[in-house]
Amino acid sequence: MYCSNCGAQIDDQSRFCDLCGTPVGDQTSAPVDSASQPEVQLEAGQEKQRYSGFCIAGFIMPFLFFGAIGLPLSIIGVFDCKKNNKRGKGFGIAGIILSILNIVEVIVTAILLYFFALGMRPH
Ligand SMILES: [Zn+2]
Repeated sequence: MYCSNCGAQIDDQSRFCDLCGTPVGDQTSAPVDSASQPEVQLEAGQEKQRYSGFCIAGFIMPFLFFGAIGLPLSIIGVFDCKKNNKRGKGFGIAGIILSILNIVEVIVTAILLYFFALGMRPH
């Protein structure tokens, strides 16, 4: 093999260049490094794609019976995901559906409670 630094011919067994002392072992470990680099870059790319806080908040709100707050948050979240390439669009869509269901549920419960209250009113 040849030295990557000075181009001198080196024995395949030796770890350093006889002329300039450049470690030859680096050449064999370099491909391993470059192979592991895409993984690191991928992880960094995933870190960049952060979850949209609106989506998460919009998804949680219906569980706290705040569908009226969750619905706009989820809608903002979905747009936030599209515009800023953030993650959590699924949460946003689920948040919209759950929020609507929650609002309907609250309205139905309110109507039922209203009629129950009317029915229980002493005549
Ligand atoms: Zn050399």
